[in-house]
Amino acid sequence: MRTKDRYDVVIVGAGAFGLASAYHLIDRRPELSVLVVDARSGPGEGSMGASAAMVRDVFSSSDNRQLARSSIAFYRHLMDEHEELRGTSPLLDLYGYLWLLPERYMNEYRDLVRKSGGTLDARPVELSDVRSCPGLDPAPSRWYEGDAAPPPEAIAGGLFGRTCGAVAPEKLANFYFAAARARGVDFAFGLCVQRLSFEGREELLLHEPSKLPYAFQDRIPGRLRIARVVFGDGSFVRTDRVIVAAGAWAEHLLHPVGIATACSPRPQLLFSVSGQEVDRLLGWAPPVDPIDVPTGRPRLPFVILPTGATMKPIFGERRIWMGGVDRVAHPIGTREDPSTEGALDYRADRLGDREAFATDVLPAVTPYFPGFDTTGLRLESSWGGYYHFSPEGLPVLTEEACGVIFVGGDSGSGVMKADAIGRLVAALYDGAREARLFRGDSYRLDRLSLDHRAVEEERIIL
Ligand SMILES: Cc1cc2nc3c(=O)[nH]c(=O)nc-3n(C[C@H](O)[C@H](O)[C@H](O)COP(=O)(O)OP(=O)(O)OC[C@H]3O[C@@H](n4cnc5c(N)ncnc54)[C@H](O)[C@@H]3O)c2cc1C
Repeated sequence: MRTKDRYDVVIVGAGAFGLASAYHLIDRRPELSVLVVDARSGPGEGSMGASAAMVRDVFSSSDNRQLARSSIAFYRHLMDEHEELRGTSPLLDLYGYLWLLPERYMNEYRDLVRKSGGTLDARPVELSDVRSCPGLDPAPSRWYEGDAAPPPEAIAGGLFGRTCGAVAPEKLANFYFAAARARGVDFAFGLCVQRLSFEGREELLLHEPSKLPYAFQDRIPGRLRIARVVFGDGSFVRTDRVIVAAGAWAEHLLHPVGIATACSPRPQLLFSVSGQEVDRLLGWAPPVDPIDVPTGRPRLPFVILPTGATMKPIFGERRIWMGGVDRVAHPIGTREDPSTEGALDYRADRLGDREAFATDVLPAVTPYFPGFDTTGLRLESSWGGYYHFSPEGLPVLTEEACGVIFVGGDSGSGVMKADAIGRLVAALYDGAREARLFRGDSYRLDRLSLDHRAVEEERIIL
């Protein structure tokens, strides 16, 4: 609820990044008045709620590894501290990732583990062990009926990531929400930010009717500051600083005030399936040694096929969620535009296109799991959200002279890095050059900026 008409800082977006930012900001600066605004009816209902909600520390970029490791360790710490985050559906369940790899990637992945100097807890899996997976054909003979392309590559072995598994996104969102609110952060849900505005500063000269500043003022230090956050219903709050953590929809707010993000949103879909083949696969006790073994034996890990198709076990429901990164089947951009509509009419189920299961996902799975044809599976549901891609697959964190911090560019792995990102945002707000991550290591903030960006490309995007 909005309790004031002026806040020290307004955070747009109560998703993974906005929630963690609110929590760490108020932890660091308890005297601040902070408002978090989200168009959805509760926390974590944007792409965070649509996500597969997997976590891993296996990344090719050392920055991504550091951010994910810190966040996973913090989520684990939360479980130790809070009983309600343990139990049958825990905040974190590290049952592992199993990459099934063709020959040409085996060496690259092994090198990655070797070069990590022991920090990456991942182990090779022999082809003979992979073969015990029920229904798996490691050497497919074709893509699918009627496609004349050479078959996808044979599986030569695997890599098992141990500090990998699933997080419960609603538990994570609710933790940050409740903890930030308990420390005095105001939350306004069901409220869409339509625009950021320079209006309200007397010294500013603004064009009519656009309300954008006369260009020369950009040369006057300190003159151009965002003064208001304007909502779809025409009301507004005054503020000195805005943190835009609006995920895929960030550009709709930032481009109109001249702020570039270098990021682009792409729809990504997930499909929940059940059936006999799913039961068979869920029954597999793979020869691996995961961190969490609540049933006393290893369970089906999150499986990544050489085609990029992914399979997430949903143990309690006897289902598997299937997906895979899509860069071609949907245009870049969001279907919703809060800046013109004054509302954010995003619905995960509407974005989920059932037809795409047969056209985009199954063809990447059935070569390796021939039993997963349409007769062996029941498609229970489908839904979608967005990956907000940055050029290198790492988050972007920038601060503009007009008082706006942008954090985004999750590139499909933001839930697993959210806690570290929240720490970085809080430190940047505070004028620091470095942030301290959960396990005490420090991280230079400008590594993720656009001006002084210093990151290597991430090659493992799932
Ligand atoms: C299919 C799929 C699978 C995924 N799998 C994983 C995974 O396994 N692991 C992982 O770590 N990540 C995964 N992700 C990515 C993950 O969802 C994102 O990294 C994460 O949600 C990014 O957080 P965010 O806060 O930037 O964006 P979001 O979670 O989308 O939050 C942004 C929030 O801003 C709000 N908002 C936007 N514009 C406005 C406005 N104008 N006014 C008011 N509110 C506004 C939205 O309502 C939303 O709640 C997946 C995503 C998808 C779509």
